[in-house]
Amino acid sequence: MESTNEEFYQVIVVGAGVSGLAAARNLLKNGVTNILILEATSKPGGRVETLKFGKASDRNEAGLIEVGAQWIHGEQNEFCQILKASNHRHSKTSWEGKGDFICPNGMKVEDDMVDEVLGWLEEAIEKVEATFSIETIQKEKNGERISEENMSMGEHLHEGFLAYMAESYPDLMEGSSDYDLRMGLFQWGMSFQRIDNSCNKMNDVSLYRWSEFEVNPGEHYNNFRKGAQSFVNEVLVGDILHSFILYNSPVKNIAWNDSGVIITTKDGSSFSAQTTLVTCSIGVLKSNLDSFFTPSLPEKQAKAIRCTGFGPVTKIFLEWTNPWWSPDFKGVQLVWPKEYIDCCNGKIAQGEQNLEQTWHKTITGFDPVLDNHNVLLAWLGGPEAVHAEILPKDIIANRCVEVLRDFIRSKNIPNPVSATVSTWNTNEYFQGAYSFRSTEGDVITGDICSALCDPVTTNNLHETNKPVIVLAGEALSKSHYSTLHGAYESGIAQSSKLVQYFNSYSSLIKSPIARAKFSTNEQLKDSIQPFSIRADEDAKFAVPIAKNIRVPS
Ligand SMILES: Cc1cc2nc3c(=O)[nH]c(=O)nc-3n(C[C@H](O)[C@H](O)[C@H](O)COP(=O)(O)OP(=O)(O)OC[C@H]3O[C@@H](n4cnc5c(N)ncnc54)[C@H](O)[C@@H]3O)c2cc1C
Repeated sequence: MESTNEEFYQVIVVGAGVSGLAAARNLLKNGVTNILILEATSKPGGRVETLKFGKASDRNEAGLIEVGAQWIHGEQNEFCQILKASNHRHSKTSWEGKGDFICPNGMKVEDDMVDEVLGWLEEAIEKVEATFSIETIQKEKNGERISEENMSMGEHLHEGFLAYMAESYPDLMEGSSDYDLRMGLFQWGMSFQRIDNSCNKMNDVSLYRWSEFEVNPGEHYNNFRKGAQSFVNEVLVGDILHSFILYNSPVKNIAWNDSGVIITTKDGSSFSAQTTLVTCSIGVLKSNLDSFFTPSLPEKQAKAIRCTGFGPVTKIFLEWTNPWWSPDFKGVQLVWPKEYIDCCNGKIAQGEQNLEQTWHKTITGFDPVLDNHNVLLAWLGGPEAVHAEILPKDIIANRCVEVLRDFIRSKNIPNPVSATVSTWNTNEYFQGAYSFRSTEGDVITGDICSALCDPVTTNNLHETNKPVIVLAGEALSKSHYSTLHGAYESGIAQSSKLVQYFNSYSSLIKSPIARAKFSTNEQLKDSIQPFSIRADEDAKFAVPIAKNIRVPS
């Protein structure tokens, strides 16, 4: 229902994903309490979604699947610290991409060959991290830094592997099984990387920005004990943030000027604030860039959004009545014939593929699911991932089981009883899975993140460099983009800029509209209830609860 909200908020956070929730907690913790979170969907957590599906391994109760993020990668980050402190960390870790590597004729590839090819790839990637940086290609020309050449990660790895093959096996001919198997394994590694980087093809990934991502030390596969969604609901939202979030409120437009923002949601409601912190995915920002902000974002931020990569990943969960695999099953990885290699290297242009016939040929494998007795998970990347989202689930399930029967050479694998397929790519509030540093970003000087992270500022009679639009989200984490902990860190870092700004202007609210409501800061402070400390929570997250947060009916 259309309504105009009379409250003048200090900050409106757009999006209740991990980044938006982290930002809101940080604002409240620092005394910025007149805030509102507008969330498009009906739940918090964004790209976190845990569903009941399958059966828990040793009980006959429902199992859980993570349709979005599953792991916290690394332990030396605040997000993992909160996971541990809140007792939400699972005692078990899990894995992906393990088990036997099998060809469509049922042949298992020798472990030595798997280790050789995947070891080569790992080393080549490590060398990239040590060798290339954006400064390697950008040269000073007429006072501007420009890129001299533009090689992608995909091209670099592909060329490198062909050179390795020529040097190590000069007598092996293309078409011989030893040659083709190695190329097939390399293709598996590239498909895996394509999913890991959420890109359409590895040729879209910047070689020169690869080293910007830093692997966080510690366990790489930290699971959530009760599912990631429970952690979000119980710990990040908890009792405290709950009353600040307005669900089912997709933002349509953010009008901004030197006195603040007016945010209009799709139902026509409008909300005013001094400043807004926008945490929508880069996919959402890219496709709404022309309509979302009035006036448009400054070119610096707009260009950085356009030049940040954001692509598709799809998870397919298949459930069987009973597992047909053994209890020590680690997974099965598919070594597709070499003919399909060109998709991941970008040699077959998008649109030239007949996805209807071929979408399943980039499934990298089938992995077991933690604490889930009768479910296997398959991953897809690239255009195939988008295509799978629009297919009926029975077609997906049938095609997957045909693939399994072909590779495992067993006609006895039963049909799955149900399938769940993620839909991040076709969902208008996500438009993809996660960000990557794209070759398009090679034209931006230095750290691509700082262009995204710089607040859009205005000046008025009372304030200079007032942040009016601040972006946040996983893509704005310089070294942990694409992850949960990166999203969390970006929410904290970007909201801290607002806290710092508010602190530097000792009066909390200076806008004329706000002054009409609260003539003194004391009045504003009076509107805040005393600190509420949740017994089960670390005291550092204790925050004042704002009263009378009004929401439109
Ligand atoms: C399939 C998949 C698997 C993944 N696996 C992992 C993993 O194992 N480990 C890991 O670390 N990371 C993983 N990730 C990435 C991780 O999920 C994200 O990096 C992180 O959740 C992003 O959080 P965010 O707050 O930046 O963005 P989001 O979660 O996208 O939050 C943004 C919020 O904004 C809302 N929104 C969008 N448009 C509007 C609008 N117009 N108005 C109001 N609200 C709007 C959205 O609904 C959403 O709630 C995975 C992602 C996917 C898709």
